Amino acid sequence: MMADRIFVYIDHHLGEAVVASWEALYAASTIAASMSSGVTALVVGDGVRSLAEEAIAHGASAAVVRESPSLKDFRPELYADVVSGVLKESRPEVLVLPTTGRTRELGAMVAVDLDTGVTPDAIALEVEESAVVATRPIYAGKLLTKEVSRTRRPQIVMVRSRAFPRPTPDTARKGPVDVAAVTPGASATEVLGYRASDGGVSLTDASVIVSGGRGVSNNGRLTPPPEITDEKQQEIWRAHQGFELIRQMASVLGAAVGASRAAVDAGYIPYSNQVGQTGKVVAPDLYIACGISGAIQHLAGMRTSKTIVAINKDPEAPIFKLARFGIVGDLYEIVPALTEAFRTQLGK
Ligand code: FAD
Repeated sequence: MMADRIFVYIDHHLGEAVVASWEALYAASTIAASMSSGVTALVVGDGVRSLAEEAIAHGASAAVVRESPSLKDFRPELYADVVSGVLKESRPEVLVLPTTGRTRELGAMVAVDLDTGVTPDAIALEVEESAVVATRPIYAGKLLTKEVSRTRRPQIVMVRSRAFPRPTPDTARKGPVDVAAVTPGASATEVLGYRASDGGVSLTDASVIVSGGRGVSNNGRLTPPPEITDEKQQEIWRAHQGFELIRQMASVLGAAVGASRAAVDAGYIPYSNQVGQTGKVVAPDLYIACGISGAIQHLAGMRTSKTIVAINKDPEAPIFKLARFGIVGDLYEIVPALTEAFRTQLGK
């Protein structure tokens, strides 16, 4: 069993690691020297041994792999059982997890199993008096707080996606890998299958995001087909035309498509696209907000984007206070013109 004081959970879907796992490894590496420890990658699944090598290439010094055919699909209760078992045996000081839908459940369950706490959403880690102090945004990103648990071990820290760099893999790196088969208990759930979402780039991984808000439906010049007589359905039809412009821009830029909650609530686009306090928290290099006013709950999900561009017909829209570049005008004119310019510039 590995003796490092820092463990990092490697999140994956059917054996394919999510990039946020490598960011979590990087985050752990920032405290490794202060804790006089290496970083052990913890991989749970079925046929996932190659992830150990990938984790070592991305900076882990060692890896623990626990496998079972019943761990093929992620089921939080089974995974938590195995992760808690490894932690009880190895007794690391810290477990770092990337933040994904799966790990939100997993981190909480492991914390309950081990009677410890979880610090979510960390954007920086440091060590003070042998404990990890995590910095995280609070009040919709208006303030930063520092949190530490001095009494409970392991400290469980979840790091925000894209808050840490992704290490460049070095396949020449080698390290010990402890592989063992496990027999997790029975599960209350069964995975029947998977269905891909509407495709495109994942919001949380994207380096460029083009987002649409309620403004995308605001084009009175577009005439819906005569069979759509209901006013609400006409609005949704207009919004779909607006989002089509956004999708075209996203496709040229290799970007993900985001949305405000107003657009989601109005039925323009699924919830999985929502950015904000009650949606996804994103931090791309470039965030283009189209027809989004800039409510604090939306900003909570994207304010740490490196460059923000806002397109809005209202020069007083609050989003312009945060945007590095602002374009005042009708998105129905500006988005296609910009898409064309990007296409030319990028030779697409
Ligand atoms: P609006 O505020 O209506 O803005 C539309 C904008 O489009 C306006 O600025 C307008 O000038 C512009 N516009 C209109 N037509 C055009 C055009 N043709 N061209 C260019 N611009 C145009 N919101 C989120 O986004 N994410 C969240 O996670 C979230 N969580 C919430 C949680 C709670 C508890 C609460 C209370 C609210 C939450 N909200 C969230 C809602 C938030 O308060 C706002 O209502 C929402 O963000 C507004 O969305 P919007 O900017 O698309 O719409």
